[in-house]
Amino acid sequence: MNVNEIFADLKKYIERHRELYGDELIVEYASLPKSSELTMTLKPQEISAMKQPVIKIDALPTLEELKATVSGCKKCELCKTRTQTVFGSGNPKADLMFVGEAPGADEDEQGLPFVGRAGQLLTKMIEEERSLGIPRETVYIANILKCRPPGNRKPNTDEIEQCEPYLITQIELIKPKIICALGLTAANTLLRNTLSMTAMRGKTFDYHGVPLVVTYHPAALLRNPNWKKPAWEDMLLLKKMLEDLKK
Ligand code: SF4
Repeated sequence: MNVNEIFADLKKYIERHRELYGDELIVEYASLPKSSELTMTLKPQEISAMKQPVIKIDALPTLEELKATVSGCKKCELCKTRTQTVFGSGNPKADLMFVGEAPGADEDEQGLPFVGRAGQLLTKMIEEERSLGIPRETVYIANILKCRPPGNRKPNTDEIEQCEPYLITQIELIKPKIICALGLTAANTLLRNTLSMTAMRGKTFDYHGVPLVVTYHPAALLRNPNWKKPAWEDMLLLKKMLEDLKK
C-alpha cells in the first residue's frame, strides 16, 4: 500500500467515524482534503448554548416578500462575503421540504440551493423511481443559512441564530407536512442535539410542529458511496410518509 492509499483509507475512516458517531474530530495533514471537506458538527457546548429562535410575527409576509427581505439582509457577517443570498426553491405548497446547512460555491454563484454536484445527486435521490420517485419541482429545498460561509466552513452560532428565523418563517408559509434534514450538521443544528447520524436515521423528530427525518448530505454521499444505500432507504421512508399522508 503506498502513502496515498494509506491517506485515502484514513480519510474514509475519519468520514465514516464522523457520520456514525458525530464526534468533534479535527485532522490536519497536507495530503488530506481541505478541512472544509471534513467539516465537523458544532461542538456540544456550542449547540447547547444556542438559543431556540422565538419568532414573533404579527402578520406573515408572503414568500416573495420574505425573499426580498432576505436578499437585503445584513444581520450577520456573511453578508460581506456572499455573492448573493440563496433563499430556497421549489413548490411553495410542498408537502416535503429538504433543509441543508448552507449554500456552497455553486449555490452562491447561481442564487439557488443544491445546484452543484451534490445538488445533482439530490435530484437523483428525489426523482429516481427506486428512490423517492417524485419530480424535484414538487418539493421545496432550502438551507438554514441563506448566505455561503467563506470556504464552506461550518456555520457559527451567531449566524445560525440570526438566520434560522427566516427558515422558520419559510416553514410557516409553505406548511410542509414533512421536513428532511440533509446532513449531520443541519440535523444537529435544527434539533439542538449532538446525536450521531446512526442514532437519528429512521426516526421522526419534531421541528416547530413538523415531523422531521434525517439523512446524509448528498456531498457526504459523493465522498463515501457506501452511504448511498442507507440514504436510499431514507428516501423510501420519506416515500412511505408521503403515501401515508394520502390515506
Ligand atoms: S446568513 Fe442569513 S442572517 Fe446572515 S446575512 Fe445572510 S441572510 Fe442575513
